[in-house]
Amino acid sequence: MSSHSSQSPRLAACICCGRSVSTEARMCAHCGQPEPSDQLRLAVQEFLRQEPKINAIKFVREQTGLGLKEARDYVERISENR
Ligand SMILES: [Zn+2]
Repeated sequence: MSSHSSQSPRLAACICCGRSVSTEARMCAHCGQPEPSDQLRLAVQEFLRQEPKINAIKFVREQTGLGLKEARDYVERISENR
């Protein structure tokens, strides 16, 4: 059996430009945002519930390779949208 099931890839809104991207995409095809899917957002929301914001920022940087400012903006955006 091949490792591919019949499951179709899920789509999510890009965190940067809001257009549809696969949740498995490593980068948005429209704007180049790394890790554009909601999976990271959900992980960060979980983080913010339990950890100080700086840890969430660190987590985002580790996951995406974003710079400090970009990662902080990203986390701020998520924490404001709760
Ligand atoms: Zn995008």
